[in-house]
Order: sequence, then C-alpha cells, then structure tokens
Amino acid sequence: MKFDIKQYSEELDKLGIEHEFIEHPEMVEVEDVLKYLGKTKLESFSTLIMKADGEYVAVIRRDDTKVNQGKLRKQLGTENVKMLDLVEFEKLTGLPSGAAHILSSVDRTLIDRKVFASQYSMGGCGSLSVSGKYKSDDLKKIPNSMVVDIAELVEDSIGTIHVGKRILSGITPSGNQLHIGNYFGAVAPQIALQDTHDTHYFVADLHALTTIHDRDKLETNITGVVLDYLALGLDSAKCVFFRQSDVPEHSQLAIVLANYISYGQMKRMHAYKDKLQTGTSEESINMGLFNYPILMAADILLYKPYGVPVGEDQRQHIELTRDIAENFNKTYKTNTFPLPEPLISKELGRIIGTDGERKMSKSLGNIIGIFDDEKMIEKQIMSCFTDPKRLKATDPGRVEGNPIFIYHDLINDNLEEVKELKERYRAGTVGDVEVKRKLIEAHKIKFGEARERRSVLEADMGIVKKILEDGAKKAREFASQTLAEVYKVIGETNQLN
Ligand code: ATP
Ligand code: MG
Repeated sequence: MKFDIKQYSEELDKLGIEHEFIEHPEMVEVEDVLKYLGKTKLESFSTLIMKADGEYVAVIRRDDTKVNQGKLRKQLGTENVKMLDLVEFEKLTGLPSGAAHILSSVDRTLIDRKVFASQYSMGGCGSLSVSGKYKSDDLKKIPNSMVVDIAELVEDSIGTIHVGKRILSGITPSGNQLHIGNYFGAVAPQIALQDTHDTHYFVADLHALTTIHDRDKLETNITGVVLDYLALGLDSAKCVFFRQSDVPEHSQLAIVLANYISYGQMKRMHAYKDKLQTGTSEESINMGLFNYPILMAADILLYKPYGVPVGEDQRQHIELTRDIAENFNKTYKTNTFPLPEPLISKELGRIIGTDGERKMSKSLGNIIGIFDDEKMIEKQIMSCFTDPKRLKATDPGRVEGNPIFIYHDLINDNLEEVKELKERYRAGTVGDVEVKRKLIEAHKIKFGEARERRSVLEADMGIVKKILEDGAKKAREFASQTLAEVYKVIGETNQLN
C-alpha cells in the first residue's frame, strides 16, 4: 500500500497543525536524517507505537530522551505494555517501519512535554525520504492526545549536552573558599563546557545576603570566589563571567516571577525546610532565604539557557525554575521561557564529606578546601573518616565507599599509586596515615598550578575588575532583552510607555 502524503497533509490542515515537508535521501536512522538536515535531537521527535492491554498507543518523545517505562505504565494504568514489532507495525499503519507519522491509527497519543521546548520539531510523516517539520505546540491538536511527563534525558550527565547551546550557572559566595565537592561536582564541568558551549557564569553575590550581614566578610567572599574561578581555569575570553548585582535585571525579574509560584510550593523548598528541621524558628528565618529559589529562577530564566550544570543539591531549585517558567508560559500562552535542563553528573553530583556521612558542604564543615593554606588542608585530610571497622593498619580494610579513596580517585592522577594503595589497604599492609599523606601530596600536584595562578591574579585586581565589568556589559545585553520581552508579555509595557 502506498502512503498518500497529500492526503496526510490535508488531514493535518483540517486539524490546524502547521507543517512542512522536507525531502532527503531515503534514511532509516534518526541520527542520519538529523545530520543531513543540520538539526539536533533537541529539535526532533519520534513516534513510538505500543500496545497496552489491547489498546494501541502512540508515544511522542524528543529524540534526546527515552521513555521511563515505570512512568509510562503508571500513565497507562497497566503493566502489559509492549512496542509493536515490525509486522504488527506495518499491519496497523501500512507504513514502513521507522516512518510513523503523527496521525497513525491508534486509540490515543501521549506527547512528552519536553517536545515543546523547541518551537518547531522534525518528526516522521509516513516516508523514509521525507521528514515533517511541525509546529510543536500544534501537536496538541492530534485527536485523542494528551501531554505527559514520562521521558528523561538519555543520560543525565554533562556528556550529552548539545554543542553550542547556552549554558548558565552561578555560585554563591557564602564562604570564602571553594571545596573539592564544589570543584568536581560543579566548577570542573562548568569550565569544561566553555570550549564547546555558549557559557554564562556568575557570582551570586545577592544570594549571599541570606547568611552574610557583615560588609567586610561579604567583600572578602565575593573577591575570593571570583579569584577561585579564574584560577581554576575559567577563561573570560570563552565565557561571560559577571557579578549578579552588576545586572539589575536579575532582581527585577525575580519580583515578576514571584507571582507565578504558590506560597505552598515555596514552603517545600529544602533550604527553608532544612532550617526549620534543625530547630530554627520561623521568626529567625529571613525572607531572603525563603525567596532564594525565586531569585535563582530569575538568574536562570533571564538567559533562556538550555541547561544548568550544578550539583545534586540544586536539582529541586531547577525543578522549581521549570515550574515557574511553565506557569508563566501557560498563563500568557507564550514560549517566553524554554524549560532549562538540570545538568547533574550521576557520579560527581554529590561528593561525600570528610565525615563519611553527609554531602561535602561548607556550612557542615566537612570539607577539603582547594585554596586554604597548606596546614589547613593537611588538617582536613588527616582528620578524614575512613573505614570505621578497621582498628589497626594490619586489619584488612574496605576501599569501596571509603572517603579517603573516593578522594584519591578524584584528585590523584598517579593511577598506579592509587591501585597499589587500594590493594595494600585491602590486604592490611598500609596504614591510614600513609594513605592520607599520599593524598596530601596528590592535592599539591593537582591544585598547585591553580594556587599559583590565584596569587598572581590577586596581585593584579585591575585585571579582575575589568573582566567582571566586561562580563556584566555582555550579560546585560541579553538580560535586558528578556526583561523587556517579559514586561511586554505581562502588560507592563503599554500605551503609557
Ligand atoms: P553551603 O553549605 O553554603 O550550601 P556548599 O558547600 O553546598 O555550601 P554551594 O555554594 O551551595 O556549596 O554550591 C556550589 C555548587 O557546588 C553548586 O552547584 C552545588 O550543587 C555544588 N556542590 C556543593 N556541594 C557539592 C558536593 N558535595 N558534591 C558535588 N557538588 C556540590
Ligand atoms: Mg549548598
């Protein structure tokens, strides 16, 4: 049976689904088609056809995501879900496999919401030599369809980000130095992205006010974090590096966004809830802390980034940012804010602290610093928790999950040495002290250059100031455009302007 593309186009018109067809050589693999058309997986989707308890269901998901089977089954209300095989597919649709179109004869269609991130998306249209370009929002007009949240990025890690996309992240100067948890969980991935992506990083100095009310201390912290980032390899020629308070649009957008999130949802944010749980009374929690995730949403959405590289502890805030963006878009029926992806490394997103229990965190004091003086770093490493069951150096010890070996794996580039230390530890032929001494040496080698660079920079603050000034100028160009757009959408720009 020959598929009639003209008839298909008429059906789409009838439903009001804006579309266009693009011809290309016959190709089966999505990757090949996209390469040929110069598109990314972020701008394309596939239609998967399944059978669920005798019912035919089409699932539309973006090509850089996969369907979470658990969520799909829950959505369909049955465990009995199966992809159609080739024969079943051809019998049901009359199409060659791999050429499903969006009006296939199914009982219902589930569309994962990530598909709506791009205004237009490429998708099947019943032929292996023609691709459809659809207005994403119009997919909602497919008969018997509904929008669902069932697909996840193929790999929730830094490696899968699309080259060239905009990336944004910030760091709060709530302490005066970074620790290795910050470094491996956030700073190193951020720095790695500056070669391939359109990166924007900022020092969130307004966020620091939630905890720091001492002018001198704030100044020391801000300068410290700026120097740390530059010393660790942030290159102002490759990315936009600026200070939050230099770009007033962050505060302005925060005031607007607060209106698209409920008080109830804000009360569930960890930063606030954790404080309550540690016995702090509501009377002594400032509103800056309570509102912190709204300012963070503004920080992010101003730059409409594709992704935000951070540690695991920030996931909830990115989810909230997405909710705010979605509420806003829905309220005004616009696509003002693309929903940002949390870019969190599975292995490095939550590095354990020297107490061997909680995540490494400056406020918990269980850290290994990067730029502290050598004596301090020695002290931090020497007091690190190891294998609690091991009493003497001759007892066989446990390497897995042992913080001192987790840190060796991160810091010590002498792989032979690490391997040998692990073997001897397991065999009970090396003591904790020697393993720790070796870690101190490895720390010196790993961060020695950065420490030197930091002293050089510190001696020439003129350069640092200039970097931040230039960064703020570039950031404002983008930020002011987004704010103007938002004002227009909400009606603050009107006949009185
Ligand atoms: P605080 O205790 O004040 O919250 P912190 O040590 O958690 O400080 P932040 O300034 O909150 O550090 O975090 C800076 C960045 O480092 C964030 O992206 C955060 O997700 C990441 N990060 C913080 N701690 C870790 C950790 N232990 N492992 C991996 N990433 C981390
Ligand atoms: Mg934190």
